[in-house]
Amino acid sequence: MSETFVPGGAALRAAAEEHSAPTYHPLPVVVASGEGAWLTDVDGRRYLDLLSGYSALNFGHRHPRLIAAAKEQLDRITLTSRAFHHDRFATFCSALAELCGMEMVLPMNTGAEAVETAIKTARRWGYRVKGVPADQARIVVAAGNFHGRTTTIVSFSDDPEAREGFGPYAPGFVTVPFGDEDALAAAVDDRTVAVLLEPIQGEAGVLVPPAGYLAAVRRITAERGALFIADEIQSGLGRTGATFACAHEGVVPDMYVLGKALGGGVVPVSAVVSSRAVLEVFTPGSHGSTFGGNPLACAVALEVIAMLRTGEYQRRAAELGEHLRSELSSLSATGAVTAVRGRGLWAGVDVAPRFGSGREVAEALMRRGVLVKDTHGSTIRIAPPLVIDKDEIDHALAQFRDVLTAR
Ligand code: PLP
Repeated sequence: MSETFVPGGAALRAAAEEHSAPTYHPLPVVVASGEGAWLTDVDGRRYLDLLSGYSALNFGHRHPRLIAAAKEQLDRITLTSRAFHHDRFATFCSALAELCGMEMVLPMNTGAEAVETAIKTARRWGYRVKGVPADQARIVVAAGNFHGRTTTIVSFSDDPEAREGFGPYAPGFVTVPFGDEDALAAAVDDRTVAVLLEPIQGEAGVLVPPAGYLAAVRRITAERGALFIADEIQSGLGRTGATFACAHEGVVPDMYVLGKALGGGVVPVSAVVSSRAVLEVFTPGSHGSTFGGNPLACAVALEVIAMLRTGEYQRRAAELGEHLRSELSSLSATGAVTAVRGRGLWAGVDVAPRFGSGREVAEALMRRGVLVKDTHGSTIRIAPPLVIDKDEIDHALAQFRDVLTAR
C-alpha cells in the first residue's frame, strides 16, 4: 500500500456522514471483516489494527474461543432480564470476583454505565457507612480524566469538547492534578466518599503517573476512609502486562470498574467489582439494567476470564510491549518523536509538530495499511490486540518510521 492509496467505500462513508450524528471523525476506511490483529476493508485491502477498539479487542478480532462461546450461547438463551435467574449468572459473577480478588460483582453493559454505577455505589456507601451528611458526598477525580460521556461524567471532565453545551453540570466532584500526591492528600476530607482514577490515563495520551502515586492514593484513601475506585476499563484485563494496571504498584483498590475487553469485542459487558461491605449498599430496585448480566454477555465474559487466567495475554503484553516501546523510543533519534509513554502493549507517542499533526500521521499510516488513532493534536495512541506477534509489530513500526522520515 502506498501514498497513492485512494480510500474505498466512498458511497458508504458519504451515507454514514449524511445519516449519522457527527460525534466521530473516523479515518476514511470502511471495514468489512476482521481476524486476529487484521482488518479487511470493503475493497479487500488489509490493515493491521493498532487500536483494538480502544482496548475492547484485547484478544483480537473474532478470537475463536470467544466466537465459539458466543455461538454456543446464541443457540440456548440470550436474555432473561434480571427478573429471573439464568444459569450463567452466578458462574460469571463468582469467576469475575475471583479474578479481581474481590467478593461481589454488579454487571452493566457499557463503560460509562459502570462508572455511573461506581459513583452511585460510592455515594450510597458514603451516606450509609461513612456517615456523610445527606447530599454532601464528594468524589475526587483527576484532571485530564476520561470516564465516559454521560451527563454526570462529563460534568467532571476538563475536556471542553466533551463538556461544553451539556450543562447544567452535576455537582459533587473535586478535580486534582493527575499524579500529584500532595494535591490529592489536600483534597480528601470528611465528605470525600471516593477517589476515582484511571491508573493510567488512556484518552489523555497514555499518561503513566509517577512511581508510587497509586500506592499513595491507596494509603490516603485508606487513612481517610474513602473508597479508591480504579477505572480499569481501558487499562485492565491484560493490556499493561498485568491483569490490572494497579498491580504494577502492588495496589488493590476498593473497587474495579471494568468494561471494554470484558466483552471480548463481541458484546458490551461492564461491571463494578468490589467487596460485599461496599456493594451491599444496594437493595432491589436501587439500581439495575435490562441487559446487565445477560446470558450472552456472561457466556462471552466467562471465556474472557478463562483466557486471562492462563496469564498468556498478560505475558505477551509485557514482552511485546517492551519491544514496542523501545523501538518507538529509538525514533526519538530522528527528531520526529518527542515522547513515548506507556506500559505493556499500550503506548502514547508524541509526534513533533513539524512532522505533521496526529491526524495526518494516522492517515499516512492508514495509507500504508496500519490503523492508529490520534489524540490531543499530536499524540498517536497505540494499543494493538494482545494476539499480535513480533513480526506484525515490526511491520507496523517500519511503516511508522517510513511515514515519519518521509516528512
Ligand atoms: N473509562 C475509561 C477509562 C475509558 O477509556 C472509557 C472509554 O474509552 C470509558 C470509561 C467509557 O466506556 P464506554 O465508551 O464503553 O462507555
